Amino acid sequence: MGNPLEQPVAQLKGVGAQTSLRLEKMGIRRTQDLLFHLPVRYQDRTRIHPIASLTGGMTALVCGQVQYTELLQRSRNSLLCRIADDSGSIALRFFHFNAHQHNQLKPGVWISCFAEVRYGFAELEMLHPDYCILSHPYAVKPESQLTPVYPLTEGISQNLLRKTIKQALSLCPDHLTDWLPEALLSHYHYPDLTTALHTLHTPDADVQIAGIEQGNLPALKRLALEELLAHHLKLRHSKQLAKAGQAPIFSGDDRHTRHFISRLPFQLTGAQQRVMAEIAADCGKALPMLRLVQGDVGSGKTLVAAYAALLALLSGYQVAIMAPTELLAEQHYRNFSIWFADFAVNLVYLTGQAKGKARREVLQALADGSAGLVIGTHALFQEQVHFHKLGLVIIDEQHRFGVHQRLALREKAQHGLKPHQLVMTATPIPRTLAMLHYADLDVSVIDELPPGRTPVITSVIPAERRNEVISRISGWVAKGRQAYWVCTLIEESDTLQCEAAEQTAARLHEALLGIRIGLIHGRMKAADKEAAMLAFKHQQTDLLVATTVIEVGVDIPNAGLMIIENPERLGLSQLHQLRGRVGRGVGDSYCLLMYQAPLSDTAKQRLGILRDSHDGFVIAEKDLQLRGPGEVMGTRQTGALQFKVADVARDADLIGAMDSISGQFFGDVTDTTIHALTARWLGMGRAYNDV
Ligand code: ADP
Ligand code: MG
Repeated sequence: MGNPLEQPVAQLKGVGAQTSLRLEKMGIRRTQDLLFHLPVRYQDRTRIHPIASLTGGMTALVCGQVQYTELLQRSRNSLLCRIADDSGSIALRFFHFNAHQHNQLKPGVWISCFAEVRYGFAELEMLHPDYCILSHPYAVKPESQLTPVYPLTEGISQNLLRKTIKQALSLCPDHLTDWLPEALLSHYHYPDLTTALHTLHTPDADVQIAGIEQGNLPALKRLALEELLAHHLKLRHSKQLAKAGQAPIFSGDDRHTRHFISRLPFQLTGAQQRVMAEIAADCGKALPMLRLVQGDVGSGKTLVAAYAALLALLSGYQVAIMAPTELLAEQHYRNFSIWFADFAVNLVYLTGQAKGKARREVLQALADGSAGLVIGTHALFQEQVHFHKLGLVIIDEQHRFGVHQRLALREKAQHGLKPHQLVMTATPIPRTLAMLHYADLDVSVIDELPPGRTPVITSVIPAERRNEVISRISGWVAKGRQAYWVCTLIEESDTLQCEAAEQTAARLHEALLGIRIGLIHGRMKAADKEAAMLAFKHQQTDLLVATTVIEVGVDIPNAGLMIIENPERLGLSQLHQLRGRVGRGVGDSYCLLMYQAPLSDTAKQRLGILRDSHDGFVIAEKDLQLRGPGEVMGTRQTGALQFKVADVARDADLIGAMDSISGQFFGDVTDTTIHALTARWLGMGRAYNDV
């Protein structure tokens, strides 16, 4: 029969096929999943409040006798009712009601009501209260526990969730395994799992709601700890598995690599040399490399990647390089074509845009090994892509992909050997987070910028000074320099963002006569994007109006001025990345953060951080400190792990302790534990794939 908590939710009373499907939309499949569907807040129906004690903003249970009920026929019909207890009276207002309700609420009837109290036109009122008709005055039995309020989806009511979760909770004492060792729990004074879940789903009236909502309740911290551990152990485990395999040994002739380096138009920085040596050492062993190269924007990671690719190619292995956007893939393709011109490398390019014959040819060349190096986007990891002898996988700007995709990648080896992996990121993530995020990787840091870079002078200015900004562009272009204008208007909607960019380009065109303006956004065809980019690179346009598609990797040294509209809408790391597009050449460079007033205090502080610092790590660290509990780091921004309970800001203490906890308490943790924890916290899906 097995553990009932592992069974589908359909086994529970009141859960039919349709409800199961709806619950599944919220990631709830097994009965156990219900337990980890936590309330977003609680209602206190544990005591009856005298009506006279109510104030606006409170949510309260009251009891009273209907004095009158009136149907108001205005533009919108409403039902107004007044109830009173010994202490005073309050109005109830319904905009949605039926004849039955109208009849029920007759004068003299006693009812109990639960709702938020708010200021109406002249007095306090409750809008659409939950109410019950009572058999006698005050005949209401207050709840003994706080009432949980769950996140819902269409067709699922609070009541249904409350009932089914209660059923699931009743199975806990006999069937729920607590995978955390007692010693760990007692170290932190955290409760066992069943107790914690009971506390969170059915808190006693004396539990401080504030404590729960601020997230410092031990029951909640305990779940966060367990969730973080699930991620951490999974990553650690997958690292062990990956390292257990056999990888190809790259033992190229270093005359070739020296030739490659000597042909570059600049000297390698010390940091680049060090990281290249680390990579060469990794790839010279039969153990799969799993290395992350972290380096601020402009630190020259692409070259390090090219060096690694060359090692593989010289040893007769194929290389796949994945970039997050087509724009960046194209740029890499161009750079690599130049850098590898002296070597007989067949370079191919694959993105989602490739169709028909062209696509078939690329796939064929990869499968039969006639192509040595492929550069592309996500399209590279589609099922139809097969490699002849893949020896190295490189992922650029890996923060844009997230951990799950990164792990899925490891499946692409087809010749019995596991490919080496190099992942690169310019998004510095706070140290605490990195420990969790990159638990499965070895980390190299390029902590030095190529010489001659001057810091970008950043100013924060209100959008009212737009005209000044525009005239500054004229002056700048008159000096032969180029500029970017970045529209970030509507992050959520690609379409609207692109329209905004089009409009901005049109307006700037009117305002800046004689200045050649280019436009680039995500909805343009790949060929048009490339044309716009090339025109800008070849100085055929002076000003490039763009959406955030130019965020990653784009490299044009003559463009030293960037205007970012509505910077307050973006994360700091993303802004830092954008700003990294300028300051790549010689001479001063500027970034103008043109915000929409008024700015909140936090927004002011955040933009101030960017103005005052150029160190991506410092920026990320301060950004994290500024986040309140409950604010989640944007996925887009960091590719951060998505947690159900844990919060990167609130639980920073736990995240920082993950290594030592796992070392101390889970040193020789078995597959069973990891599987159980993974299934519990990361779902049954394909989020994580074993290597
Ligand atoms: P990122 O680390 O942001 O990916 P890139 O690899 O795009 O940076 O490099 C930024 C620019 O710096 C490119 O134009 C690249 O050719 C150049 N570059 C890389 N290494 C050096 C170096 N050692 N000295 C001078 N310029 C360099
Ligand atoms: Mg780059």
